[in-house]
Amino acid sequence: MKLRFSVGLILVACLLAAGLLAGCGGGENVLVVGTNADFLPFEFYDDEGNIVGFDIDLAQAIAEILGMELRVEHMDFKGLVAAVQSGRVDVAIAAMTIDEERLEKVNFSDPYYNARQAIVVREDNDDIHDKEDLLDKKVAVQIGTTGDLTVTDMGLPEEQIVRLEKVTHVFLELENGQVDAVVIDLPVAQRYINIKEGLKLISGDFEDEMYGIAVAKENEELLEKINNALEQIKADGTLDKLMEKWID
Ligand code: GLN
Repeated sequence: MKLRFSVGLILVACLLAAGLLAGCGGGENVLVVGTNADFLPFEFYDDEGNIVGFDIDLAQAIAEILGMELRVEHMDFKGLVAAVQSGRVDVAIAAMTIDEERLEKVNFSDPYYNARQAIVVREDNDDIHDKEDLLDKKVAVQIGTTGDLTVTDMGLPEEQIVRLEKVTHVFLELENGQVDAVVIDLPVAQRYINIKEGLKLISGDFEDEMYGIAVAKENEELLEKINNALEQIKADGTLDKLMEKWID
């Protein structure tokens, strides 16, 4: 009787501890990664409902080097930086561009991918050849992303910008003729053009953008571990393999 009672107690204590660990970051041995699984080919849901993609393989490789288990959590892109700040997730790996505004709130790892913005239009569109041609057009972007920032900074009037949460919806606007163009990260633009009929890519000559892994300011130890892991991943050819596997 007494033995049973203490076994029960230990069990309850363990469950409580596990619950606490699950509630905030990952604790010692779980790396909790926040992402927005709507960004082909970096993170997206496969047919079985698993989150897969370039960033997920990268996260897995990092977790393995750190000897940690990986847990991936999907959330809105615009909530990711706050989730890192509050410790709800340990890091964000979400094709996230290292930029000034985000750097005020979180730290970033060394860059792991060099992207840039690109323009997507319908195949029959004949009057958009460069970014300047967007100035009098309607453009759809994913809200809170560097695509959003780019068209806003270019001076497009507010009423010409359609900001949406989901990339899927951003492209639907274009396909349905609600907007003239989409501005989005180049690898994503390339993937959509390959899987959808009737769209074409315009380079637009935008600036380079570096993707990095966002880590809370106070979590310097984890940042260093991640940078060391990234160095290894770059040196041993893992990163090249991920490019080959996922990028069109
Ligand atoms: N690279 C872009 C950014 O950081 C888009 C990222 C995303 O939508 N997942 O804003």
